[in-house]
Amino acid sequence: MNHGLKSCLSTILKESIVGVSSVHGGDISKAYRIDTSNNFYFLKLNGTINAEKMFQSEAYGLQWIHETNTIKTPKVLACDTFEDTAFLLMEFIESKPPLTKDFKNLGLQLAELHKCTSKDFGLHQDNFIGNLAQSNTQHKTWLDFYMHERLAPQLELAKQKHLLTNGECPPIHKIEDSLKSLFTDIKPVLLHGDLWSGNYLISKDGTPYLIDPAVYYGHREVDIAMSKLFGGFDISFYNAYESNFKRDENTSARIEIYQLYYLLVHLNLFGRSYHGSVVSFLKKYF
Ligand code: ADP
Repeated sequence: MNHGLKSCLSTILKESIVGVSSVHGGDISKAYRIDTSNNFYFLKLNGTINAEKMFQSEAYGLQWIHETNTIKTPKVLACDTFEDTAFLLMEFIESKPPLTKDFKNLGLQLAELHKCTSKDFGLHQDNFIGNLAQSNTQHKTWLDFYMHERLAPQLELAKQKHLLTNGECPPIHKIEDSLKSLFTDIKPVLLHGDLWSGNYLISKDGTPYLIDPAVYYGHREVDIAMSKLFGGFDISFYNAYESNFKRDENTSARIEIYQLYYLLVHLNLFGRSYHGSVVSFLKKYF
């Protein structure tokens, strides 16, 4: 890390920096642990074009979740740009591998987050999923929101990038017809929005933290769908969550429909290795 940035951070923290080490595990930005003589901090750096906006919406999402008082998020200390590189500085959470009881608490606290409701689906501002734009234009129905702000833009992007052909993309009216019967009685609740296993931490004292959110008000099963996309969390997480919210006969189908959004995002972010799963979900449901 360059000297100028270090001294900029040191001014913000009002402490001198005694060490900087890389933190692995993120997909999008470079991450570091910043050590001062009294504390540790977590720093993300990104020099790409949208990075400052990305970090602002991440900071905003962390704060939005924090204000619900349901589940913790790291405290953001600064979000700014230094010499064309955007940075996000926050509290460092010293984490440990989760135990069964930690997963249980994570499930219970996520269920509490999912009790925070809103009038409309979406959010009053857009954000990002990975480094792709995510529109949160508000809608009265989940069907309209999920169709027009989630599936359609990612299908369009995949076509533009030549990752899907026109023939592989079902027409919007066909998607709409199939989803109508699955999307009944759905309320807008606050979502983490990108809940894979790299986006929560269990602190040394067993407190669950959510990190790197892509918040909006949507169907709560979206977070469960993402949690299950790559292997799933521990069963105690789902048992605790489902003690608050029961599954119904359409839950499994909806979960796959929600996973389709994340698979499309992965296709658009990381390329053709996700093509097979996207096409098989498209064929299965539409
Ligand atoms: P990216 O946006 O690049 O995906 P993440 O926000 O997921 O980056 O962070 C990368 C990794 O850094 C995470 O998987 C996690 O292990 C670690 N991490 C994230 N936030 C913190 C934090 N506040 N304290 C300690 N470690 C963190």
